Amino acid sequence: MKTEHSSNDLALLERRNIPIQRYRKGPGIRETVLLVAPTVTIQGYQYLVDFGNSNPTRFHRVNKNKECSCGAPYCEAIEAVRLYLQSGGARAPDPEGMPPCPICGSKTFRDRDWNGKYTKELGWRCAKGGLRHFLDAKAERIKKRLAENPWLIPPAPGYPGVRRDELMTWEECEAINRKIFIETGYEPTA
Ligand SMILES: [Zn+2]
Ligand SMILES: [Zn+2]
Repeated sequence: MKTEHSSNDLALLERRNIPIQRYRKGPGIRETVLLVAPTVTIQGYQYLVDFGNSNPTRFHRVNKNKECSCGAPYCEAIEAVRLYLQSGGARAPDPEGMPPCPICGSKTFRDRDWNGKYTKELGWRCAKGGLRHFLDAKAERIKKRLAENPWLIPPAPGYPGVRRDELMTWEECEAINRKIFIETGYEPTA
């Protein structure tokens, strides 16, 4: 691909957030591709990323957990928000109504990935402790509940009963281990 600008010029223009016109020569056709840096604005508690009207999926919404509304895990909109924040862009307000972290009292953010499949409990991350505090709080609640009532089916004469921890930890540990594996490389406290 031949461009009008040298790669240095392009990098400079991109840094200055100036629309870049890149000319691509197709077979016999001179095609113009307009590369405009996506604009990032705050919408509610999220970032609205606008790729311009030439893009078929123009608007993407990126939340504070770095998830994009389009569902693509490595969406360019997430990168656009990262660059926007890195260059000093204003931060979206924090969602209201989320209880503070039970471990350290910091703000928490919803994380749908960690919604309890079996417990129906909503997932979140702590602003300071990240995922670690969510897991700590969860472990503490499980311990407390077990101490209060360890039996799912109490023992009866001739029947050993079923303890809650036998069932819950099996299902939940499996789900958690799988998630931690998926998230390997992600710093939970970042
Ligand atoms: Zn997206
Ligand atoms: Zn915390």
